[in-house]
Amino acid sequence: MKKYFETKDTKDSEAGEMVFLTPSMLVVWGYFVNFCQMKKLPCLITNISSKTRNSTVDIHRSGRAIDVRTWTWNAKSIAAAEKYMNEKVGALGAYSKGSGKRKVIHYEPTVKDESGKIIKGEHFHLQVAREHQNILPKLRGRQ
Ligand SMILES: [Zn+2]
Repeated sequence: MKKYFETKDTKDSEAGEMVFLTPSMLVVWGYFVNFCQMKKLPCLITNISSKTRNSTVDIHRSGRAIDVRTWTWNAKSIAAAEKYMNEKVGALGAYSKGSGKRKVIHYEPTVKDESGKIIKGEHFHLQVAREHQNILPKLRGRQ
């Protein structure tokens, strides 16, 4: 059987947490899995609902974000994923604090502590805005 995506093998079931994702996050996730399948890139979920360090808004616990490992991705693939996701579902992205613009995909580099130990590996943070209305009109003309 072909694997389109995997979850990190921990006692906390990330796959089971997918039921808590918002409808727009599931749409974004569908596009991301499609991209990975087309490009034959590994798609490993490392976090759905855990609260991340330094996170002021708990976007993960509200079902509006998924983290995907990018350790084995090259810079070209990372850039291509950002372009694809922005074109297809950028209209669903959460508003960024800095620019005030919507952002659906964000590349996070590796974070190490003072001793050089990796606290958080590099990953994509996929995120959607807090909206509950019908999301399809936002995507018209983008398919
Ligand atoms: Zn995240």
